[in-house]
Amino acid sequence: MPRNIKAAYAKGTRSMNGKPGPNYWQNHGKYNMDIKVDAETKVVSGKEEILYSNNSSDTLKNLAIRFVNNLHKPTSPRSGAVSEDFLSTGLNIIALSVDGETYKVDSKSWGTVGNVPLKKPLLPKSKITVKIEWDYPLSKESGREGQIDPNSFFVAYSYPRISVYDDYNGWDRIPHTDRAEFYNDFNDYEFSIKAPKNYVVYATGDFLNPDEVLQPEISARLKKSYTGDEVIHIATEQEMKGGKVTQQKDWNTWKFAVNHITDVTFALSNHYVWDGASVIVDKKTNRRSSAQAAYNPITGKDFVNSVKYNLNALDWFSNNWPGIPYPYVKTIAFQGFADMEYPMMVNDSQFGDPVFAQLVQDHEVAHTYFPFYMGINETRYAYMDEGWATTFEYLIGIAEHGKQAADDFYKKFRVDQYINDKSTEEDQPVISMSDQVSGAGYGNNAYGKASLSYLALKDMLGDDLFKKALHTYMSNWNGKHPIPWDYFNSMNAGSGQNLNWFFQNWFFTNNYLDLAIAKLTPAKGKSTLAVKNVGGFAIPFDVVVTYADGKVETIHQTPAVWKANQKEVNITINTTKKITSISLDNGIYVDATPGDNIYEVK
Ligand SMILES: [Zn+2]
Repeated sequence: MPRNIKAAYAKGTRSMNGKPGPNYWQNHGKYNMDIKVDAETKVVSGKEEILYSNNSSDTLKNLAIRFVNNLHKPTSPRSGAVSEDFLSTGLNIIALSVDGETYKVDSKSWGTVGNVPLKKPLLPKSKITVKIEWDYPLSKESGREGQIDPNSFFVAYSYPRISVYDDYNGWDRIPHTDRAEFYNDFNDYEFSIKAPKNYVVYATGDFLNPDEVLQPEISARLKKSYTGDEVIHIATEQEMKGGKVTQQKDWNTWKFAVNHITDVTFALSNHYVWDGASVIVDKKTNRRSSAQAAYNPITGKDFVNSVKYNLNALDWFSNNWPGIPYPYVKTIAFQGFADMEYPMMVNDSQFGDPVFAQLVQDHEVAHTYFPFYMGINETRYAYMDEGWATTFEYLIGIAEHGKQAADDFYKKFRVDQYINDKSTEEDQPVISMSDQVSGAGYGNNAYGKASLSYLALKDMLGDDLFKKALHTYMSNWNGKHPIPWDYFNSMNAGSGQNLNWFFQNWFFTNNYLDLAIAKLTPAKGKSTLAVKNVGGFAIPFDVVVTYADGKVETIHQTPAVWKANQKEVNITINTTKKITSISLDNGIYVDATPGDNIYEVK
């Protein structure tokens, strides 16, 4: 446990029982924003008022202000190469004031995190009002946001926000360099988007004024889609082309609001078609959530089934894994190219492969729980969200396509590359700070290895106890900022077991996936099989015994076999029959050297 984390537990902001400590706090912003998108110049401009609460016991002398889209500035550090079309001038702060006092800010020098020294310090348990007026260009080629085509824009991270100030690290000043993702406070938002005539705006939050911006027939269809399972074409290609969708004013102002959420995002297009339907996500209250899709009618073939697939995903995630009702009013799939999640929205590519497209959409929607519902610090601990999204993607994949297909895909897409690449980055401990792991090591720690640890724990505890422990963790920390040790402690508390040996094994070592048969010792009535854990990870596996009579027996071992001795284990095979061969089947825990997992009896 690093020193800063130890200090957080010592001062009682976190607790070893897995819950937030008696002194837990998190800061909060109430954002009121008016944003405009000029479709001709591709400039986004806005004004915001942030009522920021310092709930900590610290006096803040600075404000760290984050603007992720400064990633596009030529001067910003980036984790990979970009094209010239990706580059832009970034954020321009036109005006900034704190409690009515004007500040002179030179945003030219800002990276993705700017610093504003406060003229008057912000005292513990007190508030300030920050007003900012800004603009920035949407880059021509974009990643998680920007121009999708000349008349479709995914406008994410569009406003300067106060960075997280937390109990274990103070101000979060880690620059956004593209690969490692985000860390945001839970804020309240009221915002409006001013868009040109015939542009439909899709955004996070409750859509407050459909009748003011949509023509009556379209508004009626949208409302109808909120109440039934049948997929409706809210706006067709012909209607978009014919000016039959939005009110025919030069500009329409679309209004949205949502409380206690980590971010708001929006997108707009003047030619995408719009589908919608809804599904009951909470059977106790009959609460429905809306699934919508916006896509190019010519190229967006994968998106034709997007709503149908999301009705299934919202239902499945709500009732199976994680088995917590989908917490939002809607999800909107927008055709872009990021394959990226945002609260209530996903920006996915057209793959031309409907099965893969569904899997990616499932993955992005699964992110609703981690990082959004759970407030994960993705920048430092990417495995706390990607590992779960990967796990849920696999589990819903079993329901959708069967276990064999889901296993094959998971091995191919999430494990094979990692286990077959012997570079030193692959085996860095998962606990390593995500923004500090280079190369493919980042992805393997965040996705595959973390997900395997969650699935191994599920195998060891069994579904019921694992779910009880997971729900303990989720109820302890939803709407807050858990760190890995809160996960470990919550799972210990929820399962009623001390799993520290297991977490030590999976998160704090250079282990990998590799078993080997050491030897078989035949004896009357029972044989003993010695299995070596060469790679070290506490994985489940099957012992497959083939007998002289041709019969095959499979004996499953959960990771519990590694609790006492993580290097080698003796497995008893109770049989009077003659064994001809034994093999170890690691399943999705793909073995680095499968050749030594087979033993032929001579
Ligand atoms: Zn993901």
